[in-house]
Amino acid sequence: MRAFNFSAGPAALPIEVLQQAASEMLDWHGTGMSVMEMSHRGREYQSIHEAALADLRELLAVPDNYKILFMQGGGQGQNAFIPLNLLGTRTEADYVVTGVWSQKSQQEAQRYCRTHIAATTEQRGFTSLPAFSEWQLSDNPAYVHVCSNETINGVEFFDLPQLDVPLVVDASSHLLSRPVDLTKYGVLYACAQKNFGIAGLTLAIVREDLLEHALPICPSVFTWKTIAQNNSIYHTPPTYAIYLAGLVFKWLKQQGGLTALEVRNLEKANLLYDTIDASDFYINHVETSARSRMNVPFHLVDEARTEDFLRGARERNLLQLKGHSSVGGMRASLYNAVPLVAVQALVDYMQEFERARV
Ligand code: PMP
Repeated sequence: MRAFNFSAGPAALPIEVLQQAASEMLDWHGTGMSVMEMSHRGREYQSIHEAALADLRELLAVPDNYKILFMQGGGQGQNAFIPLNLLGTRTEADYVVTGVWSQKSQQEAQRYCRTHIAATTEQRGFTSLPAFSEWQLSDNPAYVHVCSNETINGVEFFDLPQLDVPLVVDASSHLLSRPVDLTKYGVLYACAQKNFGIAGLTLAIVREDLLEHALPICPSVFTWKTIAQNNSIYHTPPTYAIYLAGLVFKWLKQQGGLTALEVRNLEKANLLYDTIDASDFYINHVETSARSRMNVPFHLVDEARTEDFLRGARERNLLQLKGHSSVGGMRASLYNAVPLVAVQALVDYMQEFERARV
């Protein structure tokens, strides 16, 4: 029996995608080979690769002057590849620090350049977002980095400013959960294992004019321009991870695309937040307007019962709800592949647990 899986990542995948991957595991489309066994330069894999790129471009409405890059190294790899690819002759970059992940990005960039913190909500415990008017940019930054959904702290930007400086956005934990206006972005990046695939694939979408600023020391396999010029097959790409992401892209199109997904994701998030807010037994510390639709951290007002809560959840097949160690409590991740029935089962259990203990 499949569990209701609320993992923050690697996370739940659509059952239809897993079933298709299973049925094609030994023999992909009559080739007598698994996708894992194909040459990345062969005709069969090329067709998988091209379809994944085209479906993603359509789903996200990626403008023509942006390149889609399939990479490796994870979200954290990009924390280094970003300064290595964007600094050019500049020596400073700006960071908006709104949680654990943007803080890690800023700390990693310090190995390559000076970093200026344009805004931070650390003093507020990363429970809100800084207004754009509070961002204080430095004089000549190479770029401004922001994490548009903080997976651990549960804060999400629903809008981003239009800046003159390239905006670099870590969208790892909510990409493809709703439409976005990419024209505001210089670079968007995301690891796949949360909302559109499995570990091993990292996506970068880069505005073409930004491909010209790589430092000479940037490794070739992580140089965006080199990857773009080779259609993401400069070296062996993570072929199976790209194949699976491609199946997820097709699934997302079948669901009605990102506008339809947004409606579903909003319904799921509202159900959980409304349940938390309606009780004085559970609490979420994030300011209402900044609450993430994808990652919902919550606590029992009486923290001593947390282990009991989690044990009961596991018994009901509601899995991977333990909060991140830096925050504690619980966290429910409600990615695209988590259905409304899973969230309903979770809130039913929360209400049952509350009734039994008060
Ligand atoms: N950014 C965000 C927002 C994340 O949630 C994560 C992973 N939890 C990362 C970056 C790091 O990704 P990876 O583990 O693939 O390096």
